[in-house]
Amino acid sequence: MSGFRTHDGQHSDRMPIKRSVEEKKRLLLQSQGAAGGTEAVGGRGGEDFAGQAYRRSGGGACAPPRHAADGAVRSPSRRHRWRGGWGWGYDGGAMAALCRDCCIPFRSGPDCPRCGSRRVVEHGELLDLSIAHIDCDAFYASVEKRDNPDLADKPVIVGHPGGRGVVTTACYVARRFGPRSAMPMFKALELCPHAVVIPPDMAKYRRVSQAIRELLHKATPLVEPLSLDEAYLDLSAEARLVERPPAVLLARLARAIERRVGITVSVGLSYNKFLAKMASDRNKPRGFSVIGRAEAVDLLAPMPVGALFGVGAATARRMEEAGITTIGQLQTMPEADLTARFGRFGRTLFLMARGEDGRRVQPDRPAKSVSNETTFARDIREPARLLAALAPLAEKVAGRLERSQLAGQTVVLKLKTADFKLLTRNHRLAVPSARAEILLQVGAAMLEREADGRAFRLIGIGVADLCASNQADPPDLFGG
Ligand SMILES: [Mg+2]
Repeated sequence: MSGFRTHDGQHSDRMPIKRSVEEKKRLLLQSQGAAGGTEAVGGRGGEDFAGQAYRRSGGGACAPPRHAADGAVRSPSRRHRWRGGWGWGYDGGAMAALCRDCCIPFRSGPDCPRCGSRRVVEHGELLDLSIAHIDCDAFYASVEKRDNPDLADKPVIVGHPGGRGVVTTACYVARRFGPRSAMPMFKALELCPHAVVIPPDMAKYRRVSQAIRELLHKATPLVEPLSLDEAYLDLSAEARLVERPPAVLLARLARAIERRVGITVSVGLSYNKFLAKMASDRNKPRGFSVIGRAEAVDLLAPMPVGALFGVGAATARRMEEAGITTIGQLQTMPEADLTARFGRFGRTLFLMARGEDGRRVQPDRPAKSVSNETTFARDIREPARLLAALAPLAEKVAGRLERSQLAGQTVVLKLKTADFKLLTRNHRLAVPSARAEILLQVGAAMLEREADGRAFRLIGIGVADLCASNQADPPDLFGG
């Protein structure tokens, strides 16, 4: 029988994995009550996240090979080739700079070789980092300024006026005079008597927050909101929905949020949540800051211990009493010493002081499917090599399922032929599973039927029809 069963049980000749991403987006937009929202993820066909037309930079037909974050060189494909080539000024070297206006990476330099903008972020690990923190700049005040342009240059404080009120948000103009979040309103008005005070309109801020979140979800399903105005994003290759470097996606997201929502954000990019958040805080407003592996330890060393995630005023005071004031001091202490003083948190301190943070980005909504795929550097025909490529992908899928305590009832195999024909094959399991060996076994059986000597450029495996992991893999069935 030709065709496949889709995730909602319908018969279809379309590929379920791609469908699942689109389905995810559609359901997401529906659940958030968004109008429209049908533009291509990541701006395929000349649109950015905001659905606005790009200028072409030309020269797209002869794109050079892509140097992926993992070091593999991949041929540009019709699907994956960057619009307009691989970055203006690309000369085969590692690209470490990015224009935040035209969102094109280039090799290095203080200004963009394409548009001349000086809004450039440059970092040796720029294209290797994938955990981000996005933080709206003075969110509530920015929304009020957006809705009333007369306030643009005025000091705006959002908060309940009156003696007992506190400042919820002070705009950057007001901050120059001293008001800060959580400051008593009377004190803020002593410092800045000419401030315009606006009572908070939470319903409005929630709507704006939702609009921003919709844009973030076009880049990755792994969006972890911390509050209305900030979120972590996992843009690693397994998570992101658009095949572009995370730094580029982030620049485009920031630009889309400005264009579509009308407020600015600051972006922090790093290799874990703790440092991504620290990064976004270092360059505000409208910033883009990067903390790489190479500089993390030295960067942290002179900082006060209070800069570490989880070290509040009380812990910082306790540390100070013990003579520990900087992260650099923590870096010199053995782990046993720290656990003796601070219990289990001592281990966290030990790791964080060295720039390590194992926390994952936890999305706020369940995924509809979990899959992993890889594009080969060279097309593969041999069944054994295809199978060898499948095994680590099944492991990754199982790992992701385990971390999110999910399992899937349908195993999906995805293949792309050398001439870009996409094949997907589904197999419904009797019992949902999250085990790598089961996924691989079922995936291998489906692969066996397809690997008939054709050359493939991509292979992927995933599961759909997700359920909680406690409904999966009963031990008596598998002898475990
Ligand atoms: Mg903020």
